Amino acid sequence: MTQKRIEWPVALFLILNPLGTLILAPIYFYYYGFQWDILLFALVFAAATNLSITAGYHRLFSHKSYDAHPIAKALFLLIGASGFQGSALKWSSDHRRHHTHIDGDKDPYNINEGFWYAHMGWLFYKDSVDQKIQAPDLQKDWMVQFQHDYYVPLAILTGFALPTLIGWMMGSALGGFVIAGGLRIALTQQSTFFVNSLCHTLGKQTYSKEISARDSWFVAILTHGEGYHNFHHKFQIDYRNGIKWYHWDPTKWVIRSLNLVGLAHKLRQIPQVEILKARLQAEAAELAKRGFAEEQLLVLKEKILEAQNRMKKLHDDYEQFKIDAAKKRADLKVAYDLKLVELRRDLEIAQLEFQMGMKQWKLCLRSV
Ligand SMILES: [Zn+2]
Ligand SMILES: [Zn+2]
Repeated sequence: MTQKRIEWPVALFLILNPLGTLILAPIYFYYYGFQWDILLFALVFAAATNLSITAGYHRLFSHKSYDAHPIAKALFLLIGASGFQGSALKWSSDHRRHHTHIDGDKDPYNINEGFWYAHMGWLFYKDSVDQKIQAPDLQKDWMVQFQHDYYVPLAILTGFALPTLIGWMMGSALGGFVIAGGLRIALTQQSTFFVNSLCHTLGKQTYSKEISARDSWFVAILTHGEGYHNFHHKFQIDYRNGIKWYHWDPTKWVIRSLNLVGLAHKLRQIPQVEILKARLQAEAAELAKRGFAEEQLLVLKEKILEAQNRMKKLHDDYEQFKIDAAKKRADLKVAYDLKLVELRRDLEIAQLEFQMGMKQWKLCLRSV
């Protein structure tokens, strides 16, 4: 059996940074006590680091799920570098490989190699870390390429020097270095690592049972919204991971906020009917295994999807007609109002048909 070669620089950092933090943090607290301003700064910096990885490295650079203004890109690249997770180019190239070869030998953080391996074990080995970069679109982006070329000095400057300087201005350079530097890096790294381990272990396979990725609100809390990972693997181009408004996905809210202030545009979203189709497909396969007749499931599935399509079209027609009706002359108003009532009635029928179909479907799922 051949011995796996160790990727020493990464391995040493992953061991020495938390170890150093563990030794220096008590020394810092002993001499300086709790400095709330430094803790608050570290917390804000940690959130910014995580969001630069999730909204920047992941959803922008790896998946192009939206377009970003150069200011947003520069911020993601600078703050992202401070997280010591590699350059955006390398990170994205590895991540794209993960999506293409999920659960297979070429998946750099293949969950079938074990929880620990997918979590951070893979980072210790040359074979999994030292893979050729394959992201020609990103290599053409001078900002991404610049961050890649000067990654190590940028990471040290933004990850350690900057928080040490800010800590010094707040009264403790050591506090800045240990809490907003080392500790922040160790914790934000773990948050990313959970995406590759927990997101492929804990939760439901809502949209595809063929892949290990899972949806879990609990993991979403630990990972700034990346926990709806089954959805993400099925629809990687969508800028959201949590699609319902109440799904905990701060990354999606950040992207939407950037859009509001003009720093992000062309937010890509999968149509609702496609999402439902995938979900029903996955559930139908499950029901068929439990003995439900496939033809009947297919008929019901088509009925639900048709009702949803009709609902969407009628809703759009109704909204458009309402705008048109408001502009019409008074003598034509009655005819328009009548048409509006008709549209409203058809829309309600479609909604009822959709709800009934879904109810029937859920009853099937609940039955043994
Ligand atoms: Zn994944
Ligand atoms: Zn992804």
